[in-house]
Amino acid sequence: MKLLDKNKNIKKILIGTHNKGKIREISYLIKNKIKKITPFDLGIKSPRETGKTFKQNAELKAKFFYNKSKIVSISDDSGLSIKCLDNKPGIYSARWAKKYGSFQNAMKRIIQLVHHKNNKKNNNKATFFCALTLQLTNKKKISVLGKIDGSISNKIIGTKGFGYDPIFIPKGYKKTFGQMSKRKKILMDHRFIAFKKLKAKINIL
Ligand code: IMP
Repeated sequence: MKLLDKNKNIKKILIGTHNKGKIREISYLIKNKIKKITPFDLGIKSPRETGKTFKQNAELKAKFFYNKSKIVSISDDSGLSIKCLDNKPGIYSARWAKKYGSFQNAMKRIIQLVHHKNNKKNNNKATFFCALTLQLTNKKKISVLGKIDGSISNKIIGTKGFGYDPIFIPKGYKKTFGQMSKRKKILMDHRFIAFKKLKAKINIL
């Protein structure tokens, strides 16, 4: 396939996000020899997230950063969907932290809702989703979706990671993402799963 040949040796990639936690995770997964550039380096702001799904938002971000830079760009849209809250905050995960003033406050609110209110069935199931889009040219892109199931802890536990990591316990584990080493979390989360799918489609990263 022509596209593959042309991009086989990409030398640099723009990691299309201002979220430092995501930059760290995505950079960790991309080959060392590819130079990683961020929107901070280029002075590019993030676009408004007007999509209605993770996929739509990942695609609009990757396209936006590609158009601004003309550099192969990778963007994700991710978030935490909580079953007993009708899958909220979902695509609004970052916006909930703003609404409540901080991630700490948003996490406290989530624990209240999941463990004390609104939850007669005692269901604390949750899923982290990550839509990942690689924009190769103006017209060529690849999108994938990764997810990891788990539950919401009854306390904020752990100081590692970012965002909602301290309240998410992946299925089959006893610790929150916030308690795990960076390496362990990065190599099992929704972003990693999406990344593996992307690599299976185009092994240039
Ligand atoms: P967005 O994709 O920029 O809309 O932001 C997604 C938000 O979801 C982030 O700001 C985090 O709050 C949350 N999020 C996404 N991935 C993770 C993760 O791996 N750990 C913790 N929180 C995450």
